[in-house]
Amino acid sequence: MKIAVSACLLGSNCKYNGGNNLSEKVMEFVKGHEVIAVCPEVLGGLPTPRESSEIVNGVVRHKDGTSVDLEFRRGAELALKQVMEAGAELVILQSRSPSCGAKNVYDGTFSGTLIPGQGVFAKLLMENNIKVMDVSELP
Ligand code: SF4
Repeated sequence: MKIAVSACLLGSNCKYNGGNNLSEKVMEFVKGHEVIAVCPEVLGGLPTPRESSEIVNGVVRHKDGTSVDLEFRRGAELALKQVMEAGAELVILQSRSPSCGAKNVYDGTFSGTLIPGQGVFAKLLMENNIKVMDVSELP
């Protein structure tokens, strides 16, 4: 099976703070499968490291109010294209991200409060009927 994965879960240093979310659980799960690494925020042209962002009333913003909505949405579209062109049947996504979060996202107050919802990329994948899994759901 072809599986797309949030690149940071595979060890790419593409997180907003320049680090990664390398997951042994993911590495184990994808063994023997064809893996496609995707980072929508990097594809959208955002630098690494970069300011953290949250979805504020439907618009992705930095804490100082600067909108990065355009970059997030462009990146999500490009990442969707990569996933579709590769024919990935499943996308494993990093939790809580304003791009990749599949179950919860921060509430837009930059206070660390989670609410049910999806990041921009996760939502776009779901709208295109692509199977997604939050990394926290992995067995
Ligand atoms: S956009 Fe997704 S893949 Fe890129 S660093 Fe954030 S959580 Fe990881």
